[in-house]
Amino acid sequence: MPAEIRVRFAPSPTGYLHVGGARTALFNYLFARRSGGTFILRIEDTDRGRFQESALEEIYQSLRWLGLDWDEGPQKGGEVGPYIQSERLDRYQKYADQLIQSEHAYRCFCTPQRLEEVRLKREKEKQSTGYDRLCRDLTPAQIEENLAQNKPYIVRLKIPAGRTVSFNDLIRGKIDYQSDILDDLVLLKTDGFPTYHLANVVDDHAMRISHVLRGDEWIASTPRHVLLYEAFGWTPPLFAHMPVILDPSGGKLSKRKGAASVMDYKRTGILPEALFNFIAFLGWSPGDEREKMGREEMIEAFSLENISPKASVFDEKKLEWMNGLYLHDHSAESLVRDVFPLLKAKGFISSEANEHDPIVVSAISLLKDRSRRLTEIVENASYFFIDPVSYEEKAVIKYFAKGTKAVFETLIDKLDGMIEFNQVSLDKLYHEYSTASGVAIGELIHPTRLAVSGVSFGPGLFELMQALGKETVFRRIKTAISWLEKNSATLQ
Ligand code: GLU
Repeated sequence: MPAEIRVRFAPSPTGYLHVGGARTALFNYLFARRSGGTFILRIEDTDRGRFQESALEEIYQSLRWLGLDWDEGPQKGGEVGPYIQSERLDRYQKYADQLIQSEHAYRCFCTPQRLEEVRLKREKEKQSTGYDRLCRDLTPAQIEENLAQNKPYIVRLKIPAGRTVSFNDLIRGKIDYQSDILDDLVLLKTDGFPTYHLANVVDDHAMRISHVLRGDEWIASTPRHVLLYEAFGWTPPLFAHMPVILDPSGGKLSKRKGAASVMDYKRTGILPEALFNFIAFLGWSPGDEREKMGREEMIEAFSLENISPKASVFDEKKLEWMNGLYLHDHSAESLVRDVFPLLKAKGFISSEANEHDPIVVSAISLLKDRSRRLTEIVENASYFFIDPVSYEEKAVIKYFAKGTKAVFETLIDKLDGMIEFNQVSLDKLYHEYSTASGVAIGELIHPTRLAVSGVSFGPGLFELMQALGKETVFRRIKTAISWLEKNSATLQ
């Protein structure tokens, strides 16, 4: 183990932060926290064509929302900053020059057109690399002439011939690549911007990164990076490539099949701690039966050895199940801040209503244990705020009969006499009425629920009635009585 553990999450702000990226960030975070190391955020924005300002903002937001707070990075600072690559351009230029001087790299003056022609030709000839290395052997005089003519150039690394490039992946074990299948890597582009490879290696070195934990789509870059470290005379960090994440049908995770952005999960009512827990288990497990684990517990249990080299499967149903467990743990009060704006957006609450209205807390409290997402709470909450305008059709057939009106009329009388209108007293009243009248308790409960909520499912009836309050319950039962009167001909 290196003496000092320093890891980094190095996203390119070319799009939203999706599940795969979040998992990389999360494993780096857990590893750093477990080992008392440093978790660094570095923004790799040297591909200016694909840079998106909004993506950058969303990356910060997503990491913060998940609680992946970085120790060094943008908006935070640190001794080896700046942490945004576009603010470090002079360094890359300098290091590219250094490699040219030491003859590990060379200027390539080939035009894009020539490169394309060569590539197509070599592809046809089934050559393993796409570039014919024409500029690798230019004489000093030819180079001088090209420079004097201001010919644009890129800088390429001289990949040594006939070498086996090896590295020991902490998750997959020893990996060998033959250098002959590697193209002379582009380090610097004509616009003076570094490629991902150069900037990544220079910064990992400058930032004293001890472990590179990244997705396995980068594994083919690693032998190139190893050669680059060698050219600089630097010791490479340790590498660990995390297994791919598949959708449940075995395909690559796509936006359509779950690779939504972290912020999309927030918008659709997933709690950050549930997403955190769920993502941590994409490829990692504590090695025992535990599945629901809090952040500190995961930090305590985290190790790279427990990351499986096998692909993991992203199952959104499981995420919802886990979110349900976290919803259960939360107090209703702690969810108000997130649910209230959703209720407002749905039009259930008037704009002047405030989040301390007890009905808001009651609605959340009664619905959260039967919901898997905050949005599901909201979808089912309408009758806490708005009188039903119709009744669930199937339930009407089942629970509204010719005799229901009379039952409701008696109930109204009894409810009116209640001094305390709460769950316990309502329970008592309904049971006493059932015993005295011989009407089965279910035949009182189901029709009342339909009358007060419009639907046949939901939280316990007496809790619901208490939450709605006497006035609302009365009004709704009276409305149901009128409805029953009007529709008596259709009832059985
Ligand atoms: N900028 C790369 C990305 O977007 C980082 C890869 C790495 O971690 O080396 O994923």
